Amino acid sequence: MDKNLAIAKQEEKENSSDSGPVKWSLNDFEIGRPLGKGKFGNVYLAREKKSKYIVALKLMFKSQLQKAQVEHQLRREIEIQTHLRHPHILKLYGYFYDDSRIFLILEYAPKGELYKELQRNKRFDDARAAKYIAQLADALAYCHTKKVIHRDIKPENLLLGLKGDLKIADFGWSVHAPSSRRQTMCGTLDYLPPEMIEGKPHNECVDLWSLGVLCYEFLVGNPPFEAEGHTDTYRRICKVDLRFPEYVSEGARDLISKLLRHDPRARLPLESVLKHPWILKYTQELNTASQS
Ligand code: ATP
Ligand code: MG
Repeated sequence: MDKNLAIAKQEEKENSSDSGPVKWSLNDFEIGRPLGKGKFGNVYLAREKKSKYIVALKLMFKSQLQKAQVEHQLRREIEIQTHLRHPHILKLYGYFYDDSRIFLILEYAPKGELYKELQRNKRFDDARAAKYIAQLADALAYCHTKKVIHRDIKPENLLLGLKGDLKIADFGWSVHAPSSRRQTMCGTLDYLPPEMIEGKPHNECVDLWSLGVLCYEFLVGNPPFEAEGHTDTYRRICKVDLRFPEYVSEGARDLISKLLRHDPRARLPLESVLKHPWILKYTQELNTASQS
């Protein structure tokens, strides 16, 4: 079994006369195939030379970050993700930079994007959806104890580990709660809760809303408030215009309806999500397996 990358580096440092923080450079890695394209550069499979530890190396061009004025956001992403340790949160092992680029050393998620998996399968069955929602709820509960709200929970930001378990990635929009910062609306509105669309102050309850949207999307194949244009999506979200295809089970409907409430305080808390009968029904097997 491979040693944890950070531990390997730490040991190496302790055995040398060097003091100060652990320092990485591009020389420490062999670069492999591209894993995907990011907004500001590519992500590559990479192997740390000494430990042979496999990671994902995310490269970003400083000039592009500056142009988009997101350096502050990236700094926060690094700060937040470095301090989170949870089996369903993608680990950030460290970072380094040169004159033109910044590199993030990330946990490698071998099964790739959940989004693609959903597209391939059209929709997930109750067992699979419930498993993902339980894993997400667990990870979000952990974030919320650290006063971190993710704010950008959507299938594109969820990756899959070796055993097909879910990993939350991309903390680019996350903040330390509470926040009244206005969201700059780019991309899809589909996962945003009414209070963020309406530009009101918001708290960690925004993640409960997104969890409801995701649960629906896992089971149906598209998000619940999808519409032709931004204005119509906006309207459907604020009205909570929720409709289920007939094949969605009673239990799932109950959970989703309890998460998708206009009033943030009326949404089912994460601890109750984990104890919801529909979640328990499909995760019981997993629970007994891990306890034995
Ligand atoms: P965007 O916000 O436009 O999705 P981004 O700049 O946030 O782009 P990422 O989403 O982090 O970039 O990475 C781009 C793609 O690279 C991902 O969609 C995924 O396919 C792949 N990827 C990123 N990180 C990993 C990882 N740790 N393991 C495996 N694949 C990854
Ligand atoms: Mg992304």
